[in-house]
Amino acid sequence: MSLCIVANWKLNGSREFNYQWLLDFSKSFNGEDFSSVGIAPAYLYIDHLKSIIADRDIKIGAQNIDLEETGARTGEISASMIKDLGCEFSIIGHSERRILFHETNQIISQKLIQANNNSVIPILCIGESAEENQSNNTFNVLEQQIIEAFENANELSSLIIAYEPVWAIGSGKTPNPEEINSVHEMIKDVVQSRFPKIGLESVLYGGSVNFKNASSLFEQKNVDGALIGGASLDGREFALIANVFNELRV
Ligand code: PEP
Repeated sequence: MSLCIVANWKLNGSREFNYQWLLDFSKSFNGEDFSSVGIAPAYLYIDHLKSIIADRDIKIGAQNIDLEETGARTGEISASMIKDLGCEFSIIGHSERRILFHETNQIISQKLIQANNNSVIPILCIGESAEENQSNNTFNVLEQQIIEAFENANELSSLIIAYEPVWAIGSGKTPNPEEINSVHEMIKDVVQSRFPKIGLESVLYGGSVNFKNASSLFEQKNVDGALIGGASLDGREFALIANVFNELRV
């Protein structure tokens, strides 16, 4: 099964956290098939987390990759390095990277190519700001982000998109589920019609997903899963969200 419920741990974690999280998650997760679940810990903990998840088929990924394969780029981590550690995916173009680290759609495009070259599935994040949302520009902004990101990366064998309105991240606010559904439908249409050589697997929603709102989101036909920040730090709540997904969609 492809990735549907993905944890973005951001700048959080420790070895102790990994142990406790896995214990809490395992106690509450109902399913036997873990393959739709992914975790993106900080790079430093990828190896440790992989070793303790043992034979559970939870997918591990990174929160970012560099746009180059090798070179004089102090502090960076490449797609081939995370692949070497057994990562199957990487988040690319998260709004925090766009805002705090000035990542442009052109940089993101190069990262998509790096991921593809190394058989790492990119989870490309796109989303509009509060102002863009209020001025009814959501569709235009997303279309622009898609077109610029894929202009030079138009042959990706596998891709996941996460629609993450910037104003919904960590705020407790979300668009209403029907709005999210129609945005996802538009994203699928734009990618499939303009970039037919891209293997778009799914469109996840991200932004203040929690156990309480999960079912209203997963009931939407075009919501194929979720990218989860804050609520993913609690192994129990993350498991409960994955259970809701499994009940409604699997
Ligand atoms: C995120 O940052 O990718 C995210 C979805 O965060 P949160 O769930 O905390 O809104």
